[in-house]
Amino acid sequence: MPSHTIEIKDEDETVHFHYKDHEEEPCHYNEVVTLTNKWQYNMSTEQFLRKIPKVELHVHLDGSFEPSLLFDHLRETGDYSCLPDQSYCPWDQSMLDVRTIVEKCETEDSFRALCTCRGKRSLNAMLENFTIFIPIVRGNLVLIENLAMDFVKRQAKQNCIYTEVRYSPHLLAEGGDIGGSGKVDPRPVVDAVTRGLREGEKLYGVKVNQILCCINWKPDWADDVVDIAHERKDDFPCSIVGIDIAAGEEHFDEDNFSELHNPHNKAFQRAQELGLNVTIHAGEVGDSKFVRKAVNEYGATRIGHGYQIAKEPNLMEEMRRKNIHFELCPTSSDETGGWSYHDEESRDWMKHPAKAMLRYGLNCGFNSDDPAVFATSLTWQYRIAIGKIGLTKHCIVKALQHSINSAFIDDDTKAALRTRVEDFLENTDTF
Ligand SMILES: [Zn+2]
Repeated sequence: MPSHTIEIKDEDETVHFHYKDHEEEPCHYNEVVTLTNKWQYNMSTEQFLRKIPKVELHVHLDGSFEPSLLFDHLRETGDYSCLPDQSYCPWDQSMLDVRTIVEKCETEDSFRALCTCRGKRSLNAMLENFTIFIPIVRGNLVLIENLAMDFVKRQAKQNCIYTEVRYSPHLLAEGGDIGGSGKVDPRPVVDAVTRGLREGEKLYGVKVNQILCCINWKPDWADDVVDIAHERKDDFPCSIVGIDIAAGEEHFDEDNFSELHNPHNKAFQRAQELGLNVTIHAGEVGDSKFVRKAVNEYGATRIGHGYQIAKEPNLMEEMRRKNIHFELCPTSSDETGGWSYHDEESRDWMKHPAKAMLRYGLNCGFNSDDPAVFATSLTWQYRIAIGKIGLTKHCIVKALQHSINSAFIDDDTKAALRTRVEDFLENTDTF
């Protein structure tokens, strides 16, 4: 078990709680929460947040690969040939010397630093992490299966009872380099992930479903994603319950990026005709009007992030009327710049857009997005919601209920999840 310390401090830097090596939570970041709302955070709050049964709808499998497992794999096989000499980064047209960078890592910690973007505050820095570690996994179906099973194990440790995990099967398939042009076969990847998730479900008792991601910069993959999601939507357990577009929002911009827009838009028209569930990354760092497009043109009933609408009452009103669910990811919003503030001085978690969105009565839940890349966990998002953003436990429960109501599952499964949460609330003295 890795060493892990959580210090929770109040604003005059007094240590209130100190935990070491506790089993419940997979998180490697020795994090300090400076409380902005200390009267609401005490030991009972901490116990409450750890134990409450959780639901997570926005978490990327490829953003959850535990770096120690990847590093062990490289060390055990001694084979770095999976890593390209160079990888193209389409977001800034640069080349990255991936193999040299990874070969230089002598310790797990130095490798972990390459895989995490904590403190860089840039969406591109995060995408660069993926460029480094995805080639290790790409096309290795045994490793993919093991990592999928490990993901479920870590969800179980946080008392997550239901999760929808998303990934791009193309990006993990042999030849699925983001800058490559060859045809790749994503289906063996979906098979491997499904095997790993099913095994994890059996072993750890977390209910899991899958969401397949299109990739903004790879419009030629979009049709395939819709096809696979349609083929496998009833392939229980761990079936594919929806689709997404990840890794940027340029595809919404039909004027400047028609080559990205047209294929994605067409594929999502077809997805709507096929009755597939849609959630899309929108209004994260991109324009707020992309949220409206995702809903009205692409058929999204859920939005990944959507922070940019928080300053626009008209747009929030429309989204509230349509009961669109917002998958909020606090740590991610800070690291990618989705939550923007003028300078460090004006960075005040109490003014995080999540607060405005929840106050407006929007349907919102909390998620970790890419826990390995951000070195965080789902439980940490709940801690931040209370300890930094200043929400109450009741607000957290409300957000959890929103997540259950908006999950891509049938009504009976939702009712069973609600009962689990209600039973916990009735039987705990921490609420
Ligand atoms: Zn995401």
